[in-house]
Amino acid sequence: MFFYANICIYQKESLTLQAISNGDSMKRREFISKAALGGLALSLSPELLAKMSERIPSVPGVGSVASSGKMRMTWQPYELALRHTFTVSSFSRNTTPTVQLRIDYEGFTGHGEASLPPYLGYTVEGTLRFLEKVNLEQFASPFLLEDILTYVDTIDPGESPAKAAIDIALHDLVGQLMEQPVYRLYGLDPDKCPSTSFTIGIDTPEVVREKTLECAGRFNVLKIKVGRSTDKEMVEAIRSVTNLPLVVDANQGWTDREEALDMLYWLHERGVKMAEQPMPKEQMDDIAWLTERAPMPVIADESCQRLCDIKRLKGVYSGINIKLMKCTGIREAYKMMVYARAEGMKVMIGCMTETSCAVTAAASLSPLVDFADLDGNLLIANDLYEGVGLRNGHLTLPHRPGLGLKEK
Ligand code: MG
Repeated sequence: MFFYANICIYQKESLTLQAISNGDSMKRREFISKAALGGLALSLSPELLAKMSERIPSVPGVGSVASSGKMRMTWQPYELALRHTFTVSSFSRNTTPTVQLRIDYEGFTGHGEASLPPYLGYTVEGTLRFLEKVNLEQFASPFLLEDILTYVDTIDPGESPAKAAIDIALHDLVGQLMEQPVYRLYGLDPDKCPSTSFTIGIDTPEVVREKTLECAGRFNVLKIKVGRSTDKEMVEAIRSVTNLPLVVDANQGWTDREEALDMLYWLHERGVKMAEQPMPKEQMDDIAWLTERAPMPVIADESCQRLCDIKRLKGVYSGINIKLMKCTGIREAYKMMVYARAEGMKVMIGCMTETSCAVTAAASLSPLVDFADLDGNLLIANDLYEGVGLRNGHLTLPHRPGLGLKEK
């Protein structure tokens, strides 16, 4: 596999190595020596090394928690290059920082990922600082998911993407050890994976028409980012070339509830089936008013981070959008799905811009949802993996053990 064995490769390439073994130089030397002796470097493919060094400008983020026990966790910053400039109601960007993580155990390797879109306030530096605090030595095996993830969650508040990276890697690892895909660990039928929506970015009507024509044959649902003065123009441009169902995401962009309701009715008449986070998360009373009158489900995204948020959202929204990077990973996402269902709420699963590692992890739970918005891996130009696929617009899960990822 690829870059984690990097520890010896980077040494060979005379690059500075930092952040290993919690600063313990004896452990660091011992780990490097063992890694080299174990031939870990041999498993790195030259193509991936070249790709990583192209995309990773600095080495200081390379790290590991070397363990004398059985689990060894290593990580590496990696910047995702977006295929197109990503624009929502409040900003635009061309890259997304991530930290790619790996946990090795008895010859098996689990992969995880922390995606860190800047607007969420998480940073690569903060993620690395958090990972350096994690000590997996105290756990006898990766099967102790509940104990391990509870411990990880209590190290520091926040840092959900770092926690999700560990959760995803552990699920991948446990699946491989049990020789079962992750979806089967949760008793799910992969044939029930839903269609995923695909986001058409905000742009001029000509470009929007062009983009819509390009993807209309591959997807069954299109998503539009709204909350700007050009919303109606965007929708008309899409409607001029396709009749596919649409969903919209205002990213808190509307502040007047009457205007938001008028807009939802206008959108409903044009085949919009769901609206995500129409108003600022602080305007709970206005959102409850809007949801009660809306002609479509209204889903919480920015308002809903973790399991503990759901209770206060009942009666305010029709449902919740769960993302692994918000909720610390697969295990809490599953608990959120069960709880939201018990409260009669709709369930959506979404993602950030991520490689196929984290998107496949999210897709593993997609048989449980009403709406899937898992196109984050399709929006990047430098994915590291092959994982979840698409068939007639529906998500398709690999049947290999764990997440079933293959290096690209
Ligand atoms: Mg959203």
